[in-house]
Amino acid sequence: MMSTMNDPLRISLTSLGCKVNYAEMESLASALAASGCDIVEEDAPADVVVVNTCTVTLQADATSRQRIQHLRRQNPESHLIVTGCSVDGNPNFYLAAPTPTRHPLGIDAVFSNSDKDSIATYIRSTLLHADSMEIPEAENPALPLRRGRAFIKVQDGCRHRCTYCSVWSARGASRSRSLPDILDDARAAASRGHRECVLTGVDLGSYGRDSGSTLPELVRSIWSAIPDMRIRLSSINANDITDDVVALNANERFCPHWHIPLQSGSDAILKAMHRGYRRSQFLRVVEALRHLRPETTVTTDIMTSFPGETERDHQDTCDLIRDAQFLKAHVFRYSPRPGTPAAALPDQIPVHTARRRSAELRQLAAETGSAEHDRFVGSRLHPAWLMQDGAEWIGIAETYHEVRIPFTDTLTIGTISPVTITQSTGTALRGATPQ
Ligand code: SF4
Repeated sequence: MMSTMNDPLRISLTSLGCKVNYAEMESLASALAASGCDIVEEDAPADVVVVNTCTVTLQADATSRQRIQHLRRQNPESHLIVTGCSVDGNPNFYLAAPTPTRHPLGIDAVFSNSDKDSIATYIRSTLLHADSMEIPEAENPALPLRRGRAFIKVQDGCRHRCTYCSVWSARGASRSRSLPDILDDARAAASRGHRECVLTGVDLGSYGRDSGSTLPELVRSIWSAIPDMRIRLSSINANDITDDVVALNANERFCPHWHIPLQSGSDAILKAMHRGYRRSQFLRVVEALRHLRPETTVTTDIMTSFPGETERDHQDTCDLIRDAQFLKAHVFRYSPRPGTPAAALPDQIPVHTARRRSAELRQLAAETGSAEHDRFVGSRLHPAWLMQDGAEWIGIAETYHEVRIPFTDTLTIGTISPVTITQSTGTALRGATPQ
């Protein structure tokens, strides 16, 4: 049921895909909450539903449409707004529909990635009729923390041209946000009670190339402004991890967890993907990070069955998983994206072979992941507390391990506290309540 004129507008925000999408919805939530809107959970009844879509694979496009249909069914009267990479990747389906009534998914408004920043103004002026109302600019620090960690987008677009990818065309050229804007977001996060910031970007390693700065300079600027803020990078390509970037890993306020997309362990396939690095370079980076801080963990993305991938190539990827000892690996099968160079390549891999290979890779990643949990038993970690789950608190440690402890009312969402790890389940860690 729609809320009455006196009730705050209930808004649900759904984000699919990468941490950049997530960070964008977090900043939209802050902007709308500051305008008096009620940000509700994704599946809660809402007056306005916003969906930030993903196009990284054909499956991601399909998942985006399914999510939109599900939310429309759940909220038949709500105002449904859709944005994100699947919009830019499928303009004929999303942008070409002339009027809302005729859109097959019942969408009321569509925003391409380049117009995404105007959604808050659109909601304020169209649905809040707030063009005459005084809109408080600053985020209301009194608002309760919704998430245990702050996600801040610092860069958008991509300068790489991986042959299987359409994200770069959906997001445009690489561009960095201004340092003052990023520092404002970081300060607002700190004033809300966040103790960890995750810096996100489609091509994070390119941060500053268009503004004469660098990622390490950005991190150091945030530390100067907020000395006790812990920083994590969402994802960075191996060929962007310079010595200066590696050096960040030595700082206690930097999370020794690196998400470095590998995609393949075969040099022949990395070349065909135009990934810009080779397996030895990837392993050298991992070694350098662990040399500085032995507790460093690495997570990754692996694309199996790229056109032309031989059994030898596949074994190279298996070997690299063993050598790199990943904490987690997101394994997915190559899917041809219309218009990408890879889609036109010969030797597309049969589905049954792709399924067998991805199952083998997942099994291997589960084994290294289990070992990367077991080696932390007895150590002291510092989780950022995210939520209560029954009689337990769940947190994310600086090493990206999920840590569970018995519930205690001495903790709150967003705080960070030390825990002695007593047990590993292979996919999570358990610890003793901090004294
Ligand atoms: S780095 Fe490659 S895979 Fe990632 S967005 Fe850019 S072109 Fe796509």
